[in-house]
Amino acid sequence: MKKYAIAIHGGAGTLSRTLMDSNKEQMYRQGLEQAIQSGIRILENEGTALDAVEAAVAALEDNPLFNAGRGSVFTHKGEHEMDACIMSGIDLAAGAVCGVRQIKNPIKLARCVMEKSEHVLLAASGAEVFAQVHQIETMPEAYFHDALRYEQWQQIKNSTQTALDHNLPSEKKFGTVGAVALDVTGNLAAATSTGGMTNKQFGRVGDTPIPGCGTYANNHTCAVSCTGHGEYFIKATAAYDVSALMEYKIISLQDAAELVIHQKLMSIGGEGGMIAIDKFGNICMPFNSEGMYRASYSPEEGLRCAIY
Ligand code: ASP
Repeated sequence: MKKYAIAIHGGAGTLSRTLMDSNKEQMYRQGLEQAIQSGIRILENEGTALDAVEAAVAALEDNPLFNAGRGSVFTHKGEHEMDACIMSGIDLAAGAVCGVRQIKNPIKLARCVMEKSEHVLLAASGAEVFAQVHQIETMPEAYFHDALRYEQWQQIKNSTQTALDHNLPSEKKFGTVGAVALDVTGNLAAATSTGGMTNKQFGRVGDTPIPGCGTYANNHTCAVSCTGHGEYFIKATAAYDVSALMEYKIISLQDAAELVIHQKLMSIGGEGGMIAIDKFGNICMPFNSEGMYRASYSPEEGLRCAIY
């Protein structure tokens, strides 16, 4: 049997166990399982890693439990500005969008930028016009309005504080979503999508849509999708750093990913985690926060789903 594997995340942070009951936990697990199944179906039918990560991320974007697409957090202005990136390990092709509004699935727009433009990253209104031209689905503002996210924003909107979705005191939902996959032809891909951080200044862009920071894929090494306090992941060039450590220091995926999350990021105060997969289908999902919503699947290991 040819090897394939996939991993997804739904954000990392201070996922307080006291605020989590078994019902809620079940809902999160179901959300993760549904999303990973959409990726698995593609991979088991010999589809591409790129299609699999896009499908898994789009499913998470449609689920209001997660801070991406429909469930995106509020900016300081009380709006939703979303970032997303997709990258193919075959040729380092990448597509990304940042600060987009009313796009139902920012990850689909990122894929469209990758395939139908000569650019890598389109921002705000330029990306929205591009979306219109390519008939990418939009939704009215009300689709993105979520009562609990609104309540989270109310708690800090009068300050200059920004917060990871999952670190708010009344934390009920958790963040950013991502997927990494290896397909049967040996190709790797990564995708990440987010509403960013609650109460962020409008125009703020995190690590998610920046290839090498929140998202990276290279068939020679690995595919990576990050979640956490984006400013630190940008400073650490976190996703690419895992690949560079593997390529130049010849260390394993696990050693490289753990070094970045537990040493490099922690030494500068960066909180969060990542999911990563190498060309052999090895998966690792380190985080330095209390928890990270995550799931993985390979025919050998079966489905695994965890929060803490
Ligand atoms: N990394 C995202 C950002 O800073 C947030 C998150 O992962 O929850 O925009």
